[in-house]
Amino acid sequence: MPKNLKNTSTYEDQGLSPLIYQALDASVSGVIITDNRLPDNPIIYHNAAFEKITGYSKREIIGHNCRFLQGEDRQQPARAKIKEAIQKGQHITVEIRNYTKQGDLFWNELYISPVKDSDGQVTHFIGVQNDITRRKRVEEKLLMEKESVEKKVEERTENLRSSQEYLNSIIETIREGLVVLDPHFKVLKVNKAFLKLFKVSETETINKLLFDLGNRQWDIETLRELLVKILPTNNPVLDYVVEHDFPHIGPKTMLLNAHRIELEGKYKDRILLAIEDVTDRREIEKRKDDFLSIASHELKTPLTAIRGYVQLLKRFISKENIKALDILSKSDTQIERLNNLIAELLDVSKIKSGKLDIHHSAFDFDKMVRDTIESVQLTNKEHKIVLRGSTGVICNGDETHLSQVVGNLLTNAIKYSPDQAQVSVDLARFGDQVKVMVSDQGVGISDSDKKRIFERFYRVKNIQKRFSGMGIGLYICQQIVLQHGGTIWVDSELGKGSTFSFTIPYKK
Ligand code: ADP
Repeated sequence: MPKNLKNTSTYEDQGLSPLIYQALDASVSGVIITDNRLPDNPIIYHNAAFEKITGYSKREIIGHNCRFLQGEDRQQPARAKIKEAIQKGQHITVEIRNYTKQGDLFWNELYISPVKDSDGQVTHFIGVQNDITRRKRVEEKLLMEKESVEKKVEERTENLRSSQEYLNSIIETIREGLVVLDPHFKVLKVNKAFLKLFKVSETETINKLLFDLGNRQWDIETLRELLVKILPTNNPVLDYVVEHDFPHIGPKTMLLNAHRIELEGKYKDRILLAIEDVTDRREIEKRKDDFLSIASHELKTPLTAIRGYVQLLKRFISKENIKALDILSKSDTQIERLNNLIAELLDVSKIKSGKLDIHHSAFDFDKMVRDTIESVQLTNKEHKIVLRGSTGVICNGDETHLSQVVGNLLTNAIKYSPDQAQVSVDLARFGDQVKVMVSDQGVGISDSDKKRIFERFYRVKNIQKRFSGMGIGLYICQQIVLQHGGTIWVDSELGKGSTFSFTIPYKK
């Protein structure tokens, strides 16, 4: 043991320069010296800062092994490191959890340095300690924040991954072929349905220009024009029909819809193109239309014959045979009804094939309406048809077809207001237009049905059983009005009644 170091910090006793002791006591770092030659390596010196940091007094420090500073907290990896360094007589710096006399934790950054004699034997250890609790807390806080940020990132990534998977599964489940294009119409992504539809592989498709794909089948001038406008104008391409003999799959009818892609409310420079093979659907529709056309023609011929025979029969029956004449006249009414139904079916097939001929000629519009009301009134005695207003115009249009429109609206108004006694027709003229309004106070139409009643064969579900019909009257009306350059619409409230109105330019 160097003679200048004794178990006391009184520098006079130690024979050391008082200046060095003053210097040691002035340090903010705790300094201790242990004597390795004594049993249990006791502390033989400490400076003032050590007392301040640990809260122990000299009496409680001198002669003790340093381990009292760890209290019960023995299982620290730093202790094992210190032990090893001491055994090997090496320097070491560790961060170790220490406890003050009051039991408060403080983090100690401990530097231990061995002192050796001339034989190389470790005689003493000098320990220098710094309270780094504050730094540690900041570090711990930082670590916690880092962990929380990492956790959030992980959660977000997971969310993103699952929404990506969700999106992918939707894209792959959809039966339509989907293609994502960049602003130059280069294919960025396609779904399996597209590859299956066109019997192509991804390598034949990805990074190729849309217009170069499979024999340049998409290089269609009008389609190109529509697609070019999507990004700058945001106008989607809706239900664009492409009929083409495709390389691997033959002649097909494809329905194209294209939109600019929108992500989180922002439009991207990407186009999503959906391609649907409607070949079979079109074929079935065509067959239905063909059937309609053939059936209505075939039905008309025998009906015309029956009508002739009934007329003939009327002549052979004497005026006195009232009963027979009454039956014949009832047959006439039913034949007329059947004839009208067949005529309607024929109209539908004519409209579908674009063959509904509208012949324009000048006629008295109000008289046409009056005559139509009269003939509807004849067969519908339960309701009174009230006519209000007049147009006073000579209309240039197809009188027969316009009368068909008014008649249809009237018979509907009567049919769908069975508990009412009156329906009305209002006429008006403004500018170059005439307007007809047919009103009833019957069953009315719901908002969702209002959008569909002008469709071919559409009938409101819950009243189908109560009222007979084929769901084509309004479709024909709309087509006739459209062909006259007019519009037709309905205002209605469920349970309160409906008003069907149409306008047409009368000079056309
Ligand atoms: P149909 O009367 O033969 O069913 P329409 O094409 O004339 O066919 O009418 C389509 C549907 O619109 C009808 O089935 C009915 O549900 C509804 N509709 C038409 N006119 C009226 C009306 N005046 N009041 C209530 N519903 C109506």
